Amino acid sequence: MVTLAALLAAGGASAAPGTSRVTVLATGGTIAGAQAPEGGYGYKSGSFDIKDLIAAVPNLDKLATISGEQVVNIGSQDMNDEVWLKLARRLAEVVKSPGTDAVIITHGTDTMEETGYFLDLVTKTEKPIVMVGSMRPATAISADGPSNLYNGVATAISPGARGRGVMVVLNDQIDYARNVVKTNTSDVQTFHSVNRGPAGVANTGVVTWFAPLDKKHGMTSEFGIDGLTRLPRVDIIYAHAGMNPDLIDAAVKLGAKGLVIAGVGDGNMTAPALERVTAAAKAGVVVVRSSRLGSGIVYRNNEVDDDKLGLVASDELNPAKSRVLLMLALTRTSDVAKIQKMFDEY
Ligand code: ASP
Repeated sequence: MVTLAALLAAGGASAAPGTSRVTVLATGGTIAGAQAPEGGYGYKSGSFDIKDLIAAVPNLDKLATISGEQVVNIGSQDMNDEVWLKLARRLAEVVKSPGTDAVIITHGTDTMEETGYFLDLVTKTEKPIVMVGSMRPATAISADGPSNLYNGVATAISPGARGRGVMVVLNDQIDYARNVVKTNTSDVQTFHSVNRGPAGVANTGVVTWFAPLDKKHGMTSEFGIDGLTRLPRVDIIYAHAGMNPDLIDAAVKLGAKGLVIAGVGDGNMTAPALERVTAAAKAGVVVVRSSRLGSGIVYRNNEVDDDKLGLVASDELNPAKSRVLLMLALTRTSDVAKIQKMFDEY
């Protein structure tokens, strides 16, 4: 009788070792998470080393020659600009190396869309960069990490992957980091490119590509990390019925160089809040109106007269992604018209 273990050991369609060279940069997350007790409820992100994760994926070595290194091992809720700069520096070295054809970054799903967008804006390469995470910890029944890692590597070595920028692979779906958002707290189908649809599909290692990303990124991006040790402070303030403007004043007082308003509807806020952000903008703080809704475009000069008030409209970017772009924009300029152009182009 054929056993499951024997079938797995026999490998997939090709038994020859993969010749593409893939470097995995690991940062932690649920994909490296362990339950205590095993199989039980609750877990700790970033418990396993990347070598254990690679070893747990049957036939990964038949796809590519994989090497892995641990950059940090954290839950991505603890991601910050210090780690982003460290990761971006290591990524820049790795993509320059002739010994690497493609890069996988393992990462928690909570802030993957922010890290991915940041790396997409600052990494100059045509080589594929694919982020992979999971919704279930490594010790869970039906853990999704191994298949995500397998499909992530298949995506990264696929001939159509070059020049597409940073991508995210989860639950058989490929998304551009620029477009993707996490939409569900626990569902394995949590990532969606809400305004545009996915970049492709990766099913058991078979990759199908859809349209390329038509926004500035990677090689066409003007941003970089040379000389940066920190990113300018940008705070996000959430709008709601009865929004009090005090938090706007507090953020400015505490040294925010930029503010993103997670507005109601089309980037709206109460009249007192609008008055305070206008005062902040006059004082040189760059204010971006984004939306707390899950999808859509924040239009310039629609209900709010951005020209008159000196504000920026976020276009398609949600508050978290608006913050990433605004931080990088502020490393270049604080001119509102120039920053609005960036929000239109990136
Ligand atoms: N809290 C985890 C993290 O972002 C969730 C996950 O990875 O799915 O690290």
